[in-house]
Amino acid sequence: MGIKVAKFGGSSLADAAQFKKVRDILLSDKDRRIVVPSAPGKRSATDVKVTDLFYACNRLAEAGKSMDEPFGAIAERFHSIARELELDLDLDSYLNEVRRQIELGAGEDYAASRGEYLSGVLLSNCLGWDFVDPKTGIFFDECGRLDGEKTQTVLGKILKEHEHAVVPGFYGCDTHGNVKTFSRGGSDITGAIVARAAEADLYENWTDVSGCLMADPRIVRDPETIRYVTYRELRELSYMGASVLHEDAIFPVRIAGIPTNIRNTNQPDEPGTLIGYEAEEHESEYVITGIAGHKDFAIINVEKAMMNAELGFGRRVLQALEEQKISFEHMPSGIDTMCVVVHEDAIRGKKEKLIERIRQLCEPDTVEIHSGLALIATVGRGMVRSKGISARLFDALVKAGINVRLIDQGSSELNIIVGVDNLDFENAVRAIYRAFVVKKPRW
Ligand code: ADP
Ligand code: ASP
Ligand code: MG
Repeated sequence: MGIKVAKFGGSSLADAAQFKKVRDILLSDKDRRIVVPSAPGKRSATDVKVTDLFYACNRLAEAGKSMDEPFGAIAERFHSIARELELDLDLDSYLNEVRRQIELGAGEDYAASRGEYLSGVLLSNCLGWDFVDPKTGIFFDECGRLDGEKTQTVLGKILKEHEHAVVPGFYGCDTHGNVKTFSRGGSDITGAIVARAAEADLYENWTDVSGCLMADPRIVRDPETIRYVTYRELRELSYMGASVLHEDAIFPVRIAGIPTNIRNTNQPDEPGTLIGYEAEEHESEYVITGIAGHKDFAIINVEKAMMNAELGFGRRVLQALEEQKISFEHMPSGIDTMCVVVHEDAIRGKKEKLIERIRQLCEPDTVEIHSGLALIATVGRGMVRSKGISARLFDALVKAGINVRLIDQGSSELNIIVGVDNLDFENAVRAIYRAFVVKKPRW
C-alpha cells in the first residue's frame, strides 16, 4: 500500500457541500492517509476568506476595538459546516478559546492560522482521523525560514505514529514556541513538507481548477490543461505568477523525488496535472508548456560607453541595490548598458537614493528608472529543440500592436521573458497563447 498526501485549498473547503466532496475523495482511495486542509475560502466571487476575517479580528483586537462582526461571521461559517455534517463536537469551546487568545494579544500569525486549525478540527471529526497540530512538527529558524531538517526529523516521527492524520496547512512553530505562518497561500507548502516527511508516493494538491493551465484562466478563456510539467518548468511558471501552486511548495517534494498531482475537487475524475522530473515519455502536445506573468516591475537602466571593459562595473551597480536592501529579478545587459529589473514595491521610496548611489559608485553616462513594466514568461522544456520560437513569439506581439520593452532568454532555454507596458499585459498573454496553442481540429 502506498501513501498519498492530499492537500485541499480554501475553495475546496468553503462550505459543508465542499467538505462532503473532500470526504468522498479521501475515502475513495485507501492510499489517501494524510490530509492537509486550508481554511474555508470564498463561496462566491464577493465572499471573504476565513483567513481574511481572522486578519480583521486581529487588527480590531490590536486597536482595542470589538471583533464581534468578523468573529461572528467566522463562527457562523464553522457552525454551519458542523451542523450540516452532523459533527459531534463542542465547537463553541474551540471558538471561545481562539477568540480569547486573539484578545489576549496572541498576534497576527496565531489569528491567521486559526482558519486552518479549525478546518482541521472539523475534518478530523468528520473523518474520524487523528488531528496532528503542525505547531508540534513544522519549525521555523531564527530568521523565520523553514527549518527543513528539524521538521523532517520531528514530523516524520510523528506521522509514523498515525495510520490516518489531518495536518492543518499554513503554519508551524517559531523558535520561541509561538505559531508562525507561511506567506499567503502557504498551505501548499505544508502539503509538500508533509508529503516529504511521510515519505509519500504522491502529493495531491486539490483545488478549483483541473490542474495547472497553460495560462491564467482569468486572462485567457478556457485555457488548455498542462498534462505533464517538470518541477523546473513549474518553478518558472509559479514564480512568474501561475498562482495555482505556491512557488515554495516545489522544493520539499522535488528534493524527495515525490511527484505532485494537481486535481480539481469539483471534477475529481479529471486527471489534472502531473509534476515530476524530466522524462522523454512525457512529450508535450505543444512546443511551449505554459505562459505566466506579473505586472508592476521597474527597470533600472544604466548606460556607460565601454562599460564592458570596466572591471567591477556590474558589481558596483548591484552593490548600490544591496545597500538599499533591494533584491532584483533579472539582469538583461548589452555592451554599454546594464538593465536591472526589480519589483516596483522593492524600490518604493528609495528611487532617488538609489540613482544617486549608482552615480557615485559607477559614474555612468545615464541612469534612469522606468516603471509600469509587466513581465511575461513563456516556458517550455521543448523550446530548446525547436527552431523559430522567438520569431513566432515576437511576430505575435507585433501583430497585436504590442511594444516589447525588454527581452531576456535564460541560457537554459527553458523560458523567454518579455517585458511590456502594464497596460498591454493581458493582450500580450493572449497573443502569445494564440500563437502557440492552436487547438487541433476535431475531425
Ligand atoms: P486554492 O485555494 O485551492 O489553494 P488558489 O486560488 O490558490 O487555490 O489557486 C487556484 C487558482 O489559481 C485558480 O482558481 C486560478 O484562478 C488561479 N491560476 C492562476 N494561474 C493559473 C494557471 N496557470 N493554472 C491554473 N490556475 C491558475
Ligand atoms: N488560508 C491561507 C491563505 O488564505 C493559506 C492557504 O489558503 O493556502 O493564504
Ligand atoms: Mg492556493
